[in-house]
Amino acid sequence: MIMKTFYVCPHCGNNKEFRIFTSNFQVIKQSPLLGIRTTETGVLPSLRQNDNYIECSLCSQRFEYEDAAAIGKKYLQETQRLRMSEPVSHS
Ligand SMILES: [Zn+2]
Repeated sequence: MIMKTFYVCPHCGNNKEFRIFTSNFQVIKQSPLLGIRTTETGVLPSLRQNDNYIECSLCSQRFEYEDAAAIGKKYLQETQRLRMSEPVSHS
């Protein structure tokens, strides 16, 4: 579901703050370190009911959920792999 999805902006790589436009409007903040959403504002009614996209707070580009979510997924896999390979590699 959308609530658990981690987003990364395909345009500028922002992974911290997004505006979400659906039939509602929401601002969310994420923790790139934890890979989770940390804050989300209360849901406000959107002006246009047909909207269905997210907007990057940094570069103001709009894109599809799936695009940002797909990059977010890769991002999380990458950071997890780095984290796991860290402790053993040095002596
Ligand atoms: Zn961006």
